[in-house]
Amino acid sequence: MLINSDAFVLKSRKYNEADSLLVLFSRKMGRISAVAKGSRRAKSQMLAGIQPFCYSHFLLYQGRSMYTVNQVDTLKTFYPLRENYRRLTYASYLVELVEIEITEEQSHPQLFNLFGKALSLLSEETTEIETLIRSFELHYMTACGYEPNLFHCGHCQKRDEKKWYFSHPQGGLVCSHCYSKEQDALRISERGLKLARYLQMKSLPDVQHLKIHPRLNEELQQINKAYLLYHTGRRQFKSLRLLPRVDELMSIPPSRNHDKQSEAESQTHRLTEEVKFDTFNKDEDKTIGNEQEE
Ligand SMILES: [Zn+2]
Repeated sequence: MLINSDAFVLKSRKYNEADSLLVLFSRKMGRISAVAKGSRRAKSQMLAGIQPFCYSHFLLYQGRSMYTVNQVDTLKTFYPLRENYRRLTYASYLVELVEIEITEEQSHPQLFNLFGKALSLLSEETTEIETLIRSFELHYMTACGYEPNLFHCGHCQKRDEKKWYFSHPQGGLVCSHCYSKEQDALRISERGLKLARYLQMKSLPDVQHLKIHPRLNEELQQINKAYLLYHTGRRQFKSLRLLPRVDELMSIPPSRNHDKQSEAESQTHRLTEEVKFDTFNKDEDKTIGNEQEE
């Protein structure tokens, strides 16, 4: 049976000598694992459209045990994502979150549109990357069915409060009175809460140029991360683990010390390659149709 669908390439890795194994997020059918036969040959017409993050139109043949790619038309490559370490890392983070949520044979239009919009904005030079990611996280929670409650205490329903906390099991705010019932609740400042509400209410393009103070970003990042880890059952997000090292390297100011600069550049380059390798080649899939989540 032949199927056609637009899809994002989440992962692409070598499979046999000349083939690639793809993990796709398709508009019509959610997650699809497919083999692109002959795609690693130099003259393959498919190569451009099966790169990670590409948005392409696929014609797939559904065999008894697997899908094979018959034809690919590239719609959008999101090329700038591969040229900058931070963008690449965050694009990999979006892929990691999306992969946790999607399942085979089940479309997820809300997440599909959100993911496409986020990749597109992340490729734009002028986008405030941290703002975009905080916003994506909040919209992702909504798309996955666990939108945090940011307006009243989850225990006593109180709305008027000076000192708020955020509780993961409670799914959002708890007041200072009910706080003692929640073990791992995190303090959320008034400004932090205002920002979270704003990002939750606005679309990604609305906030793409919004600058957030680093301290405020850090506060919301910690709250989002803890909430996402709680709901996804993960201990860490693999895609983000190298970020602090490169942030450190990139913070070396331009100076006459060329050695230090070029060392930083070459280390950044190496880390970029490491992220690419980790995200694109080391797949958890051992067998097609028999995916094992770690
Ligand atoms: Zn309360």
